[in-house]
Amino acid sequence: MIEKCLESTASSHVSSRPASNSYQLAVVGCGPRGLYCLDSLANELQQLDQIPRLYVTVIEPCQYPGAGCTYDIRQPHHLRMNFAARHIDAWVNREDRTLQQLSLVEWMRLHHPGFADPNAFVPRAIVGEYLHHCFRLVAERLSRFAEVSLIRDKVDEIKRTEDHWRVSLSSQTLQANEVLLTIGHEGWRTTAMQEEISSERLIEGVFPICKQLNLQQVAPQAKVALRGFGLTAIDAALSLTEGRGGKFHECGNELQYEPGGWEPEIIYPYSRTGRPMLAKPSSPTLIDTVDTAIWDKWRTEILNSDLPISPSRFDACLWQPVIRAASEALTDIKGSIHSVTEVTQWFENWRLLPPEMVTNVMRQSAEIALGNRPPDAGWSIGEAWRQLYPALVKTISHGGLTNNGWTQFKLLAVEMERIAFGPSEENVRKILALIDHGMIDLTFLAQPSLTEHNGIMKISNDSITVNLDKCINAVIASPNTPATTGPIGSLLSRGSIKCIDPTLGIDIDRAGRPISEIPGDTAGLAILGRATEGCVLGNDT
Ligand SMILES: Cc1cc2nc3c(=O)[nH]c(=O)nc-3n(C[C@H](O)[C@H](O)[C@H](O)COP(=O)(O)OP(=O)(O)OC[C@H]3O[C@@H](n4cnc5c(N)ncnc54)[C@H](O)[C@@H]3O)c2cc1C
Repeated sequence: MIEKCLESTASSHVSSRPASNSYQLAVVGCGPRGLYCLDSLANELQQLDQIPRLYVTVIEPCQYPGAGCTYDIRQPHHLRMNFAARHIDAWVNREDRTLQQLSLVEWMRLHHPGFADPNAFVPRAIVGEYLHHCFRLVAERLSRFAEVSLIRDKVDEIKRTEDHWRVSLSSQTLQANEVLLTIGHEGWRTTAMQEEISSERLIEGVFPICKQLNLQQVAPQAKVALRGFGLTAIDAALSLTEGRGGKFHECGNELQYEPGGWEPEIIYPYSRTGRPMLAKPSSPTLIDTVDTAIWDKWRTEILNSDLPISPSRFDACLWQPVIRAASEALTDIKGSIHSVTEVTQWFENWRLLPPEMVTNVMRQSAEIALGNRPPDAGWSIGEAWRQLYPALVKTISHGGLTNNGWTQFKLLAVEMERIAFGPSEENVRKILALIDHGMIDLTFLAQPSLTEHNGIMKISNDSITVNLDKCINAVIASPNTPATTGPIGSLLSRGSIKCIDPTLGIDIDRAGRPISEIPGDTAGLAILGRATEGCVLGNDT
């Protein structure tokens, strides 16, 4: 209802030039971050004695604002969060929340009681329903202070003219005094492949599943290469199996796969390193037994670093606290000494992990996450990274690292992503079940060669070659490769905004205002989220 109201008012005022006594704000992109921004705006306006005449126009192409494309409520339920439900709350830090402002778990108890386990990694579609519900509450509240409208369209370009912004959509052009860009992933983009594969053989991207991985795209019994071995590749593998009617059955501590009959014949994942993602524990029981003073001590150590941190001080200021916290946590939880050397050695071995050990480390991490095996150095290093990450974000964002320091940090962060920010233990066990069944084959996991000649695509390693039907590119574009078209691409190409460095994100201040060399060129513009990664740490983590 509120959306109908929002949309019906949209065309009545947004395309006209703002009146001198009114103020126009355009919010471009409304995933979770756009939602939080609108909520903050409503909070700010609520504090004011006198409210200016304000128009807020939300521009979002996806059907369900708040959810955006990542949390689209129509996606299948086997696509899960990699984060326990208890951590998800759209109204964080709100002491004065109203009875309607519920956390995800509270909301699920009312609307999806079957999912309301605080430790569960719930379907992203359910989180999307929740976020969209929150958007409706926020829009309703904001409407008390401003005229709010929603346009379901994509912004192609934004341009500063004398005293306002021109916002070009596919169907119309708007004018605004201020523009907020929260466009996240900028749609479903992939990282370009080096190999030259024809469009008949290549599936560029996994989402939306119903379009990219349907039976026409990947026929039953097809032989498929899957580029990537991260969360998106896991989503793809589950969509081609569980999503096609296959079932997982509990069998002791493991899962067994029963095919549904519509699966590909075989899926060959491959990646640059061949290293897997480790399971993230769902139950807080394990971590609750670690003395919290350990995390506090090492958080403080990181927060007290002299800034900016250069490569020569990187190890002492950022990495050693993580390693030391990991060794102390492991010692605390196991009641026997586990040295810094042991933890460091685990990490060194991890970086040299041979392909034949991949399923072992995945299985081990799932067993630890389930509580069926005592924690090891790998668990402790992942937990230390998760616990200290907020301190790293605070220390590093907005100039805490020199540019060379960032290059070093990015390499470490990519590695730690696999160890600390992996899928649920359930999804790791599902992938292991598919490997045990033979549906997923790790023969070509690390750096195979993929070629296509005369319409025949092949994957090979030093000893074996197999013909393939399709290759799925399941590697999402990095935050530091903005789309060349679209609002950010257009601002970058005109030089209105700049990246900190060619391999890093857009330079913004703490208010999200781009730092521009041309005075006035970006007045009234704010950019938040993934495009700023490298100036801000952990936008999507
Ligand atoms: C497949 C996938 C799974 C994920 N799972 C998790 C998870 O389990 N846990 C977790 O913490 N994080 C997860 N993430 C990270 C995720 O990016 C963040 O959780 C969150 O979505 C970031 O919010 P955002 O609003 O900044 O960006 P987005 O969610 O990307 O939202 C941006 C919005 O802007 C819109 N938009 C883009 N371009 C334009 C344009 N030109 N004009 C107008 N609108 C535009 C898009 O339609 C979109 O709705 C996942 C990401 C992906 C891609």
